[in-house]
Amino acid sequence: MNPPLSEFHIIDKYFAHLAPDRDDVVLGIGDDCALLKPRPDQHLAVTVDTLVAGRHFLPDVEPESLGHKVLAVSLSDLAAMGATPAWATLALTLPAVNPDWLQAFANGFSALANRYQLALVGGDTTRGPLSITVQAHGLVKGAQALRRDGASAGDLVYVTGTLGDAALALRSNQASAELQYRLHWPQPRIAQGQALAGLASAAIDISDGLLADLGHVCKASGAGAEIHCKALPLSKEVAGSVEQSGDWSLPLAGGDDYELCFTLPEGKRQQLEEQFGENGWPLWQIGMVKEAGGVTAVLEDGTVYQSPVTGFDHFADER
Ligand code: ADP
Ligand code: MG
Repeated sequence: MNPPLSEFHIIDKYFAHLAPDRDDVVLGIGDDCALLKPRPDQHLAVTVDTLVAGRHFLPDVEPESLGHKVLAVSLSDLAAMGATPAWATLALTLPAVNPDWLQAFANGFSALANRYQLALVGGDTTRGPLSITVQAHGLVKGAQALRRDGASAGDLVYVTGTLGDAALALRSNQASAELQYRLHWPQPRIAQGQALAGLASAAIDISDGLLADLGHVCKASGAGAEIHCKALPLSKEVAGSVEQSGDWSLPLAGGDDYELCFTLPEGKRQQLEEQFGENGWPLWQIGMVKEAGGVTAVLEDGTVYQSPVTGFDHFADER
């Protein structure tokens, strides 16, 4: 049997060469810090996310999809700011060294990094309960960044894709391959975010459920919103589940959607629809921004959805 790989061998074998080089990386993996050189007219958009085994994913999840997803969730945050991915760092805590697992994980990470010309510039490798942290850095022209605090009453509310698919896949082991894909291989809406930069008035990515995340936009903007359940984009399976149960929690509060939710001044509607239409990007207008009053979801019969839970809060059970 081969001796176990050392930390340095792991880095060198699986991570040092997995992502493309970039001109703005002065120094990448191998020193105490990476040295990066953003252009003077760009703002740096920085985000970090941790996925913990048993909390965010099952320990036996396919490692290739895990490598994809841990980067995808951070890129989804960059998309929600209208930023272009540039660099990432990766902190890996592993219970043991399993070469096949590491190779598959690195492959999933690498495919997504390469798609966006994102360089992996550093990280940390330690032993312990399985947990993975990715910090992603993006670049955006300062004035064009999509913030949460720009929505105004009268703006239209849009989403970029179907809601509740990942939550249904998590809940049901009979979910279709399409739904499993939505859970394990989320696709960050980078191109849409770039197109929305300088166009949308506010944006967020939906990770905790539409109501919770649109609620963050409303709170930051000092506004409210009314959305119409019949306007929500639903896959056939989620629509079937909603119809059967009469419960709209999956699309409204399921989470893990990684679609963008954004607001847009009415006067920019044509420009938006043309731009999305030309690119073949799906788009749904689901409601409107109001003066105040939080987020209200109006059901098909005109009554208002009363939420049993609004999104996911890791510390909810400690209060
Ligand atoms: P230090 O002890 O100075 O923090 P390390 O020994 O932890 O450095 O890491 C050595 C080099 O390898 C550093 O450049 C670090 O950023 C990089 N690195 C460590 N782990 C990873 C990883 N999982 N992915 C990418 N780069 C990593
Ligand atoms: Mg050091």
